[in-house]
Amino acid sequence: MNRDALARICAELGARVPAWVQGTGGNVSVKLPGPRGGTLAVKESGVRLDSVGPDRGLIDVPLAPLREALARISGDGPDALAAYEEAVAGAARGRSRPSMEAGFHALLPRPLVVHLHSLAAIAMAEEHARDPAGVAAFLDRHTAWRVAFVPPVVPGWPLARALAAFADADAVVLGGHGVVIQSDDAGRVTAWADVERDFCAAFGLPTLHALLDPAATPATAASMLAAPRPFRALFPDAAVFGRRVRRVVVRAPDPGAQGFVLAPGAFEADRDAAETWLAIAALLADRPALPALPEEVCATACGLPAEAYRRRVGAERTAGGTA
Ligand SMILES: [Zn+2]
Repeated sequence: MNRDALARICAELGARVPAWVQGTGGNVSVKLPGPRGGTLAVKESGVRLDSVGPDRGLIDVPLAPLREALARISGDGPDALAAYEEAVAGAARGRSRPSMEAGFHALLPRPLVVHLHSLAAIAMAEEHARDPAGVAAFLDRHTAWRVAFVPPVVPGWPLARALAAFADADAVVLGGHGVVIQSDDAGRVTAWADVERDFCAAFGLPTLHALLDPAATPATAASMLAAPRPFRALFPDAAVFGRRVRRVVVRAPDPGAQGFVLAPGAFEADRDAAETWLAIAALLADRPALPALPEEVCATACGLPAEAYRRRVGAERTAGGTA
């Protein structure tokens, strides 16, 4: 595994919109051996996976100093969150910043770490919260992997801390967020796609199943997802980019219908936000009652106190409708 192989994986995964990634979400890293503990090559913050190349969009972070900085953080209060941001932002010596999710990439032990904002994984986490035995039985039948589940937590330090407890898991399914896969080779990502497809077939998720077809594109997804849906902060990027997403949707034209549809020209206006909307619409197509993330998770993900987050959402509702 080297930077070229990593860039190829990024291109492959980055094409799976909206099933696995939307906008600049999702990230991939590889641990490269070298002097003084080696290097973590990880996706740069704010870069789309499909625009990563061997010389573009990847940042080399000295692995041992980052792990040492993370080991010095204790608790999960505001000081710990700030220390985490400083550790990650300061880890790369250049001008660009590594993904803010670089912490768990460093803490998980295996060479390749893939983090997908997978819609099927979000549905699996929700099913697991309601029926852990049913999902465990499904996984026993369909994979030999060790699969762990983490309830919704704030990306950044709280997520890195939660994931560090599952260092021996092959996949960790993240409530209201996606999945993290770690392995020694890239083959596992394909195997995970099979698990997700089987899960969607077994648990009645036809839309998510169709989107997992490698031939599915954002355009085919947009035509599949034309029915009006409410805006709901189902995953962190929906909360963080809520304003942008509301700008690329319009109220359903049918006066009897509730909710929003993608506005004409949405992809040209803001491709990342349009893809985020498709993810919301796809999840709600198969699971209309899927709950929003807890408000405190949304607020912290947006870097706001809970009260300020509530005010912002209230203002957005007034501006964009209440559906
Ligand atoms: Zn993420």
